[in-house]
This record gives sequence, structure tokens and C-alpha cells, in this order.
Amino acid sequence: MSNQFDVIVIGGGPGGYIAAIRAAQLGKSVACVEKWKSPNGEVALGGTCLNVGCIPSKALLASSETLEHTAHHLAEHGIEVKGEVALDLAKMLSRKDTIVSKMTKGIEFLFRKNKVNWFKGHAKFTARKSDGTYQLEVSGEGAAQTITAQHVIIATGSKARHLPQIPVDNRIVADNEGALSFDSVPKKLAVIGAGVIGLELGSVWRRLGAQVTVLEASSGFLAAADEGVSKEAWKHLTKQGLEIHLGVKIGAVTTTQQGVSIAYTDKDGKAQTLAADRLIVSVGRVPNTDGLGLENIGLAVNERGMIDVDDHCHTKLPNLYAIGDVVRGPMLAHKAEDEGVMVAEVIDGQKPHIDYNCIPWVIYTSPEIAWVGKTEQQLKQEGRAYKAGQFPFAANGRALGMAKAEGFVKMLADATTDEILGVHIVASAASDLIAEAVVAMEFKAASEDIGRICHPHPSLSEVMREAALAVEKRALNM
Ligand code: FAD
Repeated sequence: MSNQFDVIVIGGGPGGYIAAIRAAQLGKSVACVEKWKSPNGEVALGGTCLNVGCIPSKALLASSETLEHTAHHLAEHGIEVKGEVALDLAKMLSRKDTIVSKMTKGIEFLFRKNKVNWFKGHAKFTARKSDGTYQLEVSGEGAAQTITAQHVIIATGSKARHLPQIPVDNRIVADNEGALSFDSVPKKLAVIGAGVIGLELGSVWRRLGAQVTVLEASSGFLAAADEGVSKEAWKHLTKQGLEIHLGVKIGAVTTTQQGVSIAYTDKDGKAQTLAADRLIVSVGRVPNTDGLGLENIGLAVNERGMIDVDDHCHTKLPNLYAIGDVVRGPMLAHKAEDEGVMVAEVIDGQKPHIDYNCIPWVIYTSPEIAWVGKTEQQLKQEGRAYKAGQFPFAANGRALGMAKAEGFVKMLADATTDEILGVHIVASAASDLIAEAVVAMEFKAASEDIGRICHPHPSLSEVMREAALAVEKRALNM
């Protein structure tokens, strides 16, 4: 195998592997370096998302929701379960692992199909040569290799942020990696951090039988979401049994073989202690830039440890790009993927563009939460005049038939032009429904456009149309 390429991609997560495939589709010779070791010791593609993020968490969310539904929600359909609904956790975890393995092997197939050269190991910049090419060293099993390319895409992703006073052993105290593989259901589970990952993983273990307490430093719940959405989500999640304490300050954390004790100050300043069998620490993620040898090519990281880039993911150095979790913007797999495609096309001389305002956000709780564009708080802060329309799933026949009638769609549109500025959904299928809003906003649609488009009946998507009509106070079924 030659060691000179048109493009080297560092990292085989959703940003990196998609960038590598797109560059190869465009006729470039491409190498992708990935070092991730799966529990069976094999190096695997797919990054955080496929190995310990999006895919395994959604598999467990689906399994745990199925268990809870079967155990508690079939009676309203007139279905009686005779006998015990029992959990086989080992089988549930093994199903998740099989899905992960199928997906990561799928990327290996796509690399072979597109002739992307996969180097297994850790990549480090060693020099930028006088002709402008970048030289990297890959160290894995066997002797280190030197590879060079004119263009390099850094897609090294992120890892869980740990707190200095709380050592993570992924047994009693876990980050996202351990929390996706607990070998038994904890009786009492503590979660530090009520962000997306804390709420999703907290929901999984609550549904499987744990008593879950979530401690959050911020005084607001889901502060990035529209206020109406946060309130609705709070109502459902706490009703389901997630105990969430806001405005807490975490103190000493003591771990024993049996469990963990967390001292904290509550929102009223009172000292409290929470005892639990296990603890999940989900307090954000930090970019992976350590050991990359950036100093060897004269590139510094910013105060957040991220690599600074422009709107096209170009770093300060020529032909050097960075994408995904290692740069500014939401830490989301689809954002990383879109940046991967964009950069590969920029390298090919094309003029691609990403509208960062049209990147959807999803939280896969039950009901799901999804949004795109601006929240009401943001529009107020910007002083932008807007109209709002909201329609509940409780008035939708399909949602009632499915016994999934919680939540609403809320649409925000410009007061004068009617351009859609934001769409906010709480619903069982919010992750799929939001796609219509993303398309509409990418095409600069008005709320009237959605209101005039025929939607299938009966379907959850009718609620999107009714919310659009409600912007002009002319919803038909309310
Ligand atoms: P990563 O996926 O982190 O991949 C980077 C890769 O680079 C890693 O495999 C790493 O081993 C490799 N690497 C790093 N340094 C080097 C080096 N020097 N040499 C070689 N290889 C290197 N996002 C969503 O959009 N939807 C979700 O539902 C969702 N759920 C999530 C659930 C959890 C529990 C977690 C933790 C995250 C979730 N995310 C979700 C976030 C998503 O996983 C990330 O945004 C996404 O993986 C970022 O992609 P990336 O390619 O930038 O980085």
C-alpha cells in the first residue's frame, strides 16, 4: 500500500468515515486512521456514535421502552399479559452489541467498496513539509508507519468529561461507556447532569427498574430548548419517576465496592447526601486533541480545547480541516457527517455550504423532544417580531389510536414574512417528524406553505400542518 494520499482523515467516527467515503467517491486517494478498540480487543470504525453513543443508546432505549410498554401499558389496548414480564439483561445488552457490530462492520464494507485505506492505530502529526504536505505517524500494532497527504481532515471527536473528585471506574461510577453496559440493574442509580445523555441513559435504567435521581447544577431544566418544550418534558419525565434536582452543587463523592455516596448542596443551600448503587457522570464532553502532535505543525487549540475553524471547517493552516465534535457547534453525529461531506467537496473544488441554523436537535426520551431553528426565548432576545402556532397530539386521531397522545408541535414564524423561524416538538416520533420542519426551513418556507400542503390522514404529521395553520389562528381541528 502506498503511504502517500490525496486526503488523510484522522478518526473513523461519523464525521471522519463519511468524509473519507465522500472524498473517495470524488476520486481522491484516501486514508482514514482509527484507533478505537472495542471490548473484544479489535480495532473498530464508527467512533463514539456507533460504539458507545447514538446507536447503542438508542438500542437500549428501544428495548427498555418495549419492556415498560409490555409490563405497564398494554391494558389500555385491551391486552392482558398473563404471567410475568421478565427482563433478561444479558440478552438485551447482547442485542445492543450485535447491532453495534453490524453497523461498524458495515463501515468496513463501505471502506472496501470505496477503496478507502484504513490504518489501525493512533495518528500524530510529525511535520508539515516544505512542499506543504502533512506528514503523520501512525502507531498501532506492529511498527509505526509514516503517511503523507496534501489535505488532512481532523475528525478526532470527543470523550466524556470527568470531574476531578469523581474517578470513573465504569463499574460503580460510569460515564457513557460503562452506563451502556451495567451488568445488573442498580436498585438506586444517581446521575450527575440532566443533559441529553443523562436523561436518555437515566430513562433506560429507570425503565429497567432502577430508582433514578438526577442531580443538575443548572437552575433551569433543558435550558437550550424552547421554554414550552422544557416545561412539557419536565412534566412527563418527572411523572414517569425520574427524580430531578436542579441548582445543586456537588461536593465529595465517596465510592465503595457496594456503591457511592454523593454529598451535595441543594438549590436552597441545604447540605444533602445521596446514596446509590451506581452513578453515571454525564457532565458534557471534551474534544480529543491530546497526542495529535498539533505543536509539530504549529496549530494551537482554543481555550475550550477545540480546533478553531471557519464556516467551511478550514483551520488556520492551508489544506487542514477539522470537523465534528472537535470543533464549534453542536456535538451531534449528523452535524459531523454534514461537515465531513462539505469538507470533502471543498477539497474537490466544489462550493458546498451548511446552514447551521437548520441542524435539528433530538433527545430520545419518551416522549421524544426535537427542535430546529430558534426558540421563543432567542427570538425575544433578538427583538424579532414573530407569530406562534401550537397544536397538541391529544387532538390527533392517529396519536390517540397509538396511545401516544402526549406533547405538541409548536411553530414560530416571522410576524411579517411568515418565514418559519423555529419548530419545537414533544412527541413519540419527534425525531422523525422534525425532518419535515428541517426541509421547510432549508427551503425558507412560510408557515402557510406547510399549512397548504396535503398531509396523510390519519398520521402524526397532521399535527405539523395544524401547528402551521395555528400560526394564523386557523387550525381546523381545534
Ligand atoms: P467521534 O464519533 O467521537 O469519532 C472520533 C474517532 O476518532 C474516535 O473513534 C476516536 O477513536 C478517533 N480518534 C481520536 N483521536 C485519534 C487519533 N489521534 N488517531 C486515530 N484515531 C483517533 N449524536 C446524535 O446526533 N444523535 C444521538 O442520538 C446521539 N447520542 C449520543 C449518545 C451518547 C451516549 C453519546 C456519548 C453521544 C451521542 N451523540 C449523539 C453524539 C455523537 O456520538 C457525536 O456527536 C459524534 O460521534 C461525533 O462524531 P465525530 O466523528 O466528530 O467523533
